Amino acid sequence: MKPLFICTDLDRTLIPNGHEAESPMAREIFRHLSTLPEVSIAYVTGRSFPLTIEAISRFELPQPDCIVCDVGTRIFVRQQGLFLEDEKWSNILAKCWPFETPLELDQKLRDTSCTALTPLTLQEPEKQSRFKLSYYFQIGENSNQLVSGVKQTLDMLSFEATVVGSIDEVKRRGLLDILPIAASKLRAVEHLISKLGHSHEQTIFSGDSGNDLDVMISHLPSVLVANASTSVKEEAHRLSHSRNLGQSLYVATGGYLGMNGNYSAGIIEGVAHFFPDYNAYLLETCNEQN
Ligand SMILES: [Mg+2]
Repeated sequence: MKPLFICTDLDRTLIPNGHEAESPMAREIFRHLSTLPEVSIAYVTGRSFPLTIEAISRFELPQPDCIVCDVGTRIFVRQQGLFLEDEKWSNILAKCWPFETPLELDQKLRDTSCTALTPLTLQEPEKQSRFKLSYYFQIGENSNQLVSGVKQTLDMLSFEATVVGSIDEVKRRGLLDILPIAASKLRAVEHLISKLGHSHEQTIFSGDSGNDLDVMISHLPSVLVANASTSVKEEAHRLSHSRNLGQSLYVATGGYLGMNGNYSAGIIEGVAHFFPDYNAYLLETCNEQN
C-alpha cells in the first residue's frame, strides 16, 4: 500500500456526536488504519487546541501526527510525543492580521454600525483565538447572506479576511468565523502537505459541514460523510462540479463492509473509494473485528 495522509475534521466526522447512529466497528477499524506505518493522520478542526486534546481523550481517538485547530489558524506537529506549534504558519498569518486580540476587529466592525452584524453574537472568550474572531447566529438566518454582509463590511474597512459560515446541527446554531485572508482549512492542509513532504494524490480529507467546504470542493480527494446535511451535500456537489473537480469529491452512502457511512465509517468508505489498494487491509481488519 502507498503512503496515505488522512486529514479529517472531528465533530460529526470522526467524533460521532451527531443525531445519526455510528456503526459499531467503524472507529476501531479507523484506529487500526491509523497504526499502519504508511498512514499519517491530521485532525483538522474548528476546536481550539485544548478542546482538541480533550476530545482525543474523551472519544478515545488515535493520537494524530498533526493538529490543525481553530479553523486552520493554528498548526501543531507531534515530535517525540509533544505537539509543537508551527511558528512559520503563525508568522504567515500575522502578516495579514494586524490585531493583538480578535476583539479589536470586532470593535472595528461594530464601529461601522453596519446592519450585517446585527444577527451576530460573539462566541465565548475561550472560542476566540489569536487569528480567529467567532460569532454565533440563529439557525433561521441565511448563512451565505451573512457571510457576504460581513465581507462587505470588511471591504468598507479595506480589510481582507476569510469569512466562513457553518451550521452546528446538533446545537441548532450557526457559526461564523473571520480569519486572516491567508488562513482556511484548505490552506492549512496544503501547508502541511508541503511541510511534511506528502503528495496531494496520496492525501484524503473528510468532513461534514460548511467549514469543510473549501477542502471538499478543491482538487484534494475528499469524502463527505453520510451524516452530513442534505444542503451541505448539495452545495459541495454543485461547487465541485462547477469547478470541474467533481472527481475529487466522494459522498459516502453506506454499504461498505456492512457499515452505514456515518462518521468514521464514511472516512473508511472514502479511503476505499480513492485508494483501492487499502481494500484488502480494510476487509481483513473488519473480519478480525467480527
Ligand atoms: Mg464537523
